Amino acid sequence: MTDDLLIIGGGPVGATLALALKNYGLRVTVLEARHPATGARDARTLALSEGSRLILGRLGVWSRLAPYATPIETIHISQRGRLGRAMLRAEEEGQEALGYVLPYAELGAALDDALAAAEDIRVEFGVRATALETSDDAATVTVEQNGATKKFSARLAVIADGGRSLDALPGMKRETREYGHTALVGHVECELPHNNIAYERFTPQGPVALLPEGATGYALVWTATPDEAARLAQLPEAQFLAELHKHFGDRVGAFRAIAGRATFPLRLVTLRPVTAPHVVAIGNAAQTLHPVAGQGFNLGLRDAWQLALIARETAAESVGGAEMLRRYQSGRRVDTGGGIFFTDFLARVFANDWPGWGAARGAGLALLELCAPARHFVSRKMSFGAKG
Ligand SMILES: Cc1cc2nc3c(=O)[nH]c(=O)nc-3n(C[C@H](O)[C@H](O)[C@H](O)COP(=O)(O)OP(=O)(O)OC[C@H]3O[C@@H](n4cnc5c(N)ncnc54)[C@H](O)[C@@H]3O)c2cc1C
Repeated sequence: MTDDLLIIGGGPVGATLALALKNYGLRVTVLEARHPATGARDARTLALSEGSRLILGRLGVWSRLAPYATPIETIHISQRGRLGRAMLRAEEEGQEALGYVLPYAELGAALDDALAAAEDIRVEFGVRATALETSDDAATVTVEQNGATKKFSARLAVIADGGRSLDALPGMKRETREYGHTALVGHVECELPHNNIAYERFTPQGPVALLPEGATGYALVWTATPDEAARLAQLPEAQFLAELHKHFGDRVGAFRAIAGRATFPLRLVTLRPVTAPHVVAIGNAAQTLHPVAGQGFNLGLRDAWQLALIARETAAESVGGAEMLRRYQSGRRVDTGGGIFFTDFLARVFANDWPGWGAARGAGLALLELCAPARHFVSRKMSFGAKG
């Protein structure tokens, strides 16, 4: 046995888990497919909740991230072509911000650096896990490194690969529901200042979000059918900006520039159960959500944090045992179930063009706007998860 915990994937969720176990006397190794100099090259921008900011603060990485983070002070929710809108405000919640907008690449770089400085955490870059097996007392991971095949074993293998590899998992089944949506992301500059307002606009073609990013611009997440997203990604800039203006409306004035267009197919993927003897899946490996409510990473971060809290309280020889995994699974059930339900509801039911639904949506938004306890409820769930 080489390790107590072997973390497969050093993305934001796997790296968070490793950092949360620093200095607790457990032997922890992270296996990451990227090469060290590559960094996390990813065009995504993440909306971090207040709860996630608190966790990153406890790990000592928030001070490094703060200069890149744009606070969201107001969330403006509306629908195209229909009445009804709602506003959530940080000041109403007694918070400085409802959340923070942060480039995925900056988050990855800060976590990589923090891991490099953590003397008791071993990180192996350029290592791709290809298979996972379990025995009575351990999990064994087969990897490819520089063209050679190697094996690592540990009392607990934590799958944090974003659900991008390891299809055959012992005793676990992956279910996929295609949304028929692709997200087109990019950074847009606009005529009017953002005033730290995030916009979520529901349209019959899917939701479109503008998240305040940097001093003046917005991170755009525009959901459309795969064909339409591919067409939009290829449009000349001026035509793209004109179509975006038509689709989004006038709230931020004219769109002046777009940079870094990239597309991501969207689907709901769930793994059931998320634990097997000596194995647990966390983050996107356990649940990959539609980005409509910006919940995926926030939920994954809470997976990592809760698993770390339980691992710290578990004697090294019992790590990966039935009791530890039972505690983890029961502790995550409500938060994970709530996050999946809420996001799936918004993606499927809220963002569609069924007859009568526009009016029902409008009534729901008007009710949210009028009812302070309902706004408080939604703000708390978005900040701290279903258990918040
Ligand atoms: C367009 C878009 C917008 C989003 N916006 C938001 C948002 O606003 N807020 C939010 O909370 N979430 C958002 N999300 C979701 C968020 O990006 C994910 O939930 C988050 O990145 C998951 O982190 P992770 O570490 O689990 O997986 P990943 O980020 O996918 O990281 C997985 C890591 O594992 C490594 N890896 C993969 N396979 C292997 C292997 N075989 N061996 C070793 N290493 C491996 C990869 O190199 C990578 O570093 C969005 C997603 C999309 C697509």
